Amino acid sequence: MNIKQEFINPNKYTRPQIRLQRISAIATHYAGDPGATAQNIRDYFNGTCVRQKRYASCHYAIGLQGEIIQLIPENEWSYCTNQANKYSISIETCHPDSTGKFTQASEKSLIELEALLCKRYGLNPLRGGVIRHYDVTGKHCPLYYVTHPDAWTAFKTAVSRCMAGQPYALPSYGTTVSAAAAINPDYCDTGKLTLCPGMEYQFKTGSLIKCANSSFEQTAHRVGADGYHYTSFKAKALTAGVGFYINGKRVCVAVVEKPWTDTPQQFTKKVGEAYQFKSNAPIVSGNKAIFVPVGNPVRQGKYYLTKFKAVGCGSAGFYIGSTRTNVGTVV
Ligand SMILES: [Zn+2]
Repeated sequence: MNIKQEFINPNKYTRPQIRLQRISAIATHYAGDPGATAQNIRDYFNGTCVRQKRYASCHYAIGLQGEIIQLIPENEWSYCTNQANKYSISIETCHPDSTGKFTQASEKSLIELEALLCKRYGLNPLRGGVIRHYDVTGKHCPLYYVTHPDAWTAFKTAVSRCMAGQPYALPSYGTTVSAAAAINPDYCDTGKLTLCPGMEYQFKTGSLIKCANSSFEQTAHRVGADGYHYTSFKAKALTAGVGFYINGKRVCVAVVEKPWTDTPQQFTKKVGEAYQFKSNAPIVSGNKAIFVPVGNPVRQGKYYLTKFKAVGCGSAGFYIGSTRTNVGTVV
């Protein structure tokens, strides 16, 4: 959530600078002007509205892309919610058409902003902390949440969940949003790691993760729809232990070991025979027409057990990471 502060000039019509004595509700509005942007709303209250000598304004405007502009400091009155002006912070949200339905981006920003304000002022969205203009005067504002009372109920739940750092559903869409606050920035799904050269590993973390030296090379990085970082590293060089860091804190120690198997470098089997490797990392067959894996590798202590069946005549290499550890011949 990004809030741009662009205060309107003090004047008696839209920014009277009356001190707000208490804040006991966040008032929810729709712009009532299909297609208007947050900047349009801000500029209107700073210009045309003053010239027309109309008493109107709001503290925050949320745009169609979810952008947020703050027009008035939170300790001053806005003229937005009639008799509730003296105890509320007001938010106007833009909408693309006359149904008043907010875009997903706008609705998400609205939930996040109300959650932030409820936290800041100790308000409970499920107990009157968030209100509609409609609840104060009966005006059909915000229109969609008046014509869809279920969406309004869901909205209050979403604000409450967002405050608690839990994933929430967008009330007008049902889409689930993972609350950014739910992500612990220091989270790492891996504490200890053992690989062999050439093997890749993907971390899931709350923030960007880095390796302390070049024994691992980063091969991919993306931020998922869930807000977590997914970063892949490839083991490059043998090491007895190297740290991985998030925000300067060591979260994982990784060892890169020489590949090892319990099997002679060369071995021979007959078609139809099965063979099981014990190795220090998962081993794969280089030619599945000769040795085909049976099931997945099974972890046993610090070793892996992997079964193969000889299915065709010829020779096939076995690999751990980028290292060929064995050659099996089938006769
Ligand atoms: Zn309103």
